[in-house]
Amino acid sequence: MLEDVAGSPPLRSNEADLSTFWMPFTNNRFFKKNPRLLASASGMTYRTPDGAEILDGTAGLWCVNAGHARAEIVDAIARQAATLDFAPTFQLAHPQAFELASRLSAIMPAGLDRIFFTNSGSESADTSLKIALAYHLARGQGGRNRLIGRARGYHGTNFGGMAVGGIGGNRKGFQTQLPGVDHLSHTYRPADAFTRGQPAGGAAMADELEALIALHGAHTIAAVIVEPVAGSTGVLVPPVGYLERLREITRAHGILLIFDEVITGFGRVGAATASERFGVTPDLLNMAKGITNGTVPMGAVAVSRDVHDTIVNSAEPGIELFHGYTYSAHPVATAAALATLEIYERDGLFAHARALEDHWETAAHSLRGAPHVVDVRNFGLMAGIELAPRPGAPGARAMEVFHRCFDEGVLVRVTGDIIALSPPLIVTPAQIARIFEQIGKVLTDLA
Ligand code: PMP
Repeated sequence: MLEDVAGSPPLRSNEADLSTFWMPFTNNRFFKKNPRLLASASGMTYRTPDGAEILDGTAGLWCVNAGHARAEIVDAIARQAATLDFAPTFQLAHPQAFELASRLSAIMPAGLDRIFFTNSGSESADTSLKIALAYHLARGQGGRNRLIGRARGYHGTNFGGMAVGGIGGNRKGFQTQLPGVDHLSHTYRPADAFTRGQPAGGAAMADELEALIALHGAHTIAAVIVEPVAGSTGVLVPPVGYLERLREITRAHGILLIFDEVITGFGRVGAATASERFGVTPDLLNMAKGITNGTVPMGAVAVSRDVHDTIVNSAEPGIELFHGYTYSAHPVATAAALATLEIYERDGLFAHARALEDHWETAAHSLRGAPHVVDVRNFGLMAGIELAPRPGAPGARAMEVFHRCFDEGVLVRVTGDIIALSPPLIVTPAQIARIFEQIGKVLTDLA
């Protein structure tokens, strides 16, 4: 049973009443007893209202890839808000929307050069699924309406993303799910523990898709959606050959492949996209987060020319796709994204991340042998440190690591009993060392 937070005495921090903001994905009662607040940020550092400095080991929520408070982005946002604060993109538009779409398409995998704008990763997920259904309908295959996700996949919290997502807790509290959804198994195998980078043996795992196709018939399946590297469930790195094989099977059966690159896009894996890094091109590619360096909500779906043209060319005269958002290609988000892409490019941040990868890997795996650590996984500038759960209290140990690291000045992220790390790409080797040393120290203290 939930206690009535509103009925308890108002919880205050810095004079703010904490009871009215119902925080997402949060144990509100617990948080509000001992709130940890962030008041400002620059570069690699957050500051609390008391002035304590916290080294950002998570790029906010996997989004601040160029580091906090970049002056060029701040200026672009301010200028845009003063020049054109809002413009509809239904039947009207503004020039920067087209400019951003062109700039994005230039860094997308070849062929994915039609861009649909959203405001978040969740909206990108649902948009990509709807485009997949519209595509099959447009080519006279409206019977293809099944969707396939993956266990431990995360595609946001809207109805489509929730349904194809594979996290029980995100689904079981809500009674209505999209019908016709299946899930592939996740790719985590305990035997792969402490593998550096990609484990081996992915193609055989992806063959499971053939079994689902045999079960339902390819003529009923619209799309398969996966995160190339699953982020939110603890950095699950695709075994070698897995994504390649998914691509082969989907192509052979006329099924669309959607990569959710909300986390892996914009340099996180040492390239503009994981698609580029793994050499596997999907039909649709979802983005958000790093697109504006986390400053203003924005997302996008890059769509293949074939999928786009099929829908557009088959439409009755008039509107082609009855889908969109008031804030699709919002001028302020567009300005933020253009300034962000400029920094990524000018500073060569994707290549910089790639160059840091070996160092990151070595530092992450230095935690092998630390108390409670049962696995270390890494790819690009992502790492997952998996802990043995405390008996009877799953997640409690990792949560304690999170709190203690925060109080010692390092921000980590926790999902279940996994510590997930993804610093801004401007992180220095000394800061990388500090992040992992801090975690190691806390684990030793807890033991
Ligand atoms: N897809 C993936 C792969 C994500 O990691 C996330 C967010 N962590 C989302 C979708 C949802 O994004 P948002 O929270 O912006 O809706």
